[in-house]
Amino acid sequence: MMIARIIYALRACWRYRSELMQFISDPSLQINKVLDLTPHDLFGHDVRGLILDFDGVLAPHAALQPNQKVISWLEAFAREFAPYKIYVLSNKPTRERLEYFTKHFPNISMVIAKRKKPYPDGLLQIIKISALDAKQLMLVDDRLATGIVAAVSVGVQGCWVTNPYVDLKTNPVRESFFIGLRFLEKVMIKLMR
Ligand SMILES: [Mg+2]
Repeated sequence: MMIARIIYALRACWRYRSELMQFISDPSLQINKVLDLTPHDLFGHDVRGLILDFDGVLAPHAALQPNQKVISWLEAFAREFAPYKIYVLSNKPTRERLEYFTKHFPNISMVIAKRKKPYPDGLLQIIKISALDAKQLMLVDDRLATGIVAAVSVGVQGCWVTNPYVDLKTNPVRESFFIGLRFLEKVMIKLMR
C-alpha cells in the first residue's frame, strides 16, 4: 500500500531525524557518485558486505541496466572486494535488471524484498543470507526517506549519494518528480530537527 508506505516513511524519518541530519551535515557519510567508492573505504569502516540501490545510484530512473561507467567500476570493485559480497536492493527489481545481473554479475545477488524501502525487509533478508552483523553491511542509496532511513533503523551503515544519476531527456516527468522528492525529504528532515 502506497499510503501506508508514505506514513511509515514519515514516522521513520521523525524517529531517526537526528541520524538522518547527520547524513545531511557530515560529508564522511556522503558520496558524490557510487564511482567514488573504493573497497579500501569499506574495509576502513569494517564493512564486509555492500548493498547497492539501483535507481539514481547505478543508473538513472527506469534504466534496464547500470550506467556504462558504473559497469566498469563494478567489475573492478567486485574483483577487489572479493570474497566479500555485493547485493542490489532496489524498489524496482524488474525482470530485465534481474536478468542483467544474473548474466553479467553472477556473484552479485539482486534481492527481492516483500516490502519496499523504507521497510527494512530487504535489509533484514540480506543480514540473514550474508550471515553478517548489520553493522558490517553498508547500503549506498540516494534517498534519505527510503533507503538511508531503512538502514539506520536496522543498524546497517549508510552511504548517501548526493549527486545521483538522472536522465531528464528520456524521463522528464519521473526524474523531475524524484528530484523534487529528494529536495523535499532534505527540507523535511531539517525542519524536524
Ligand atoms: Mg535510488
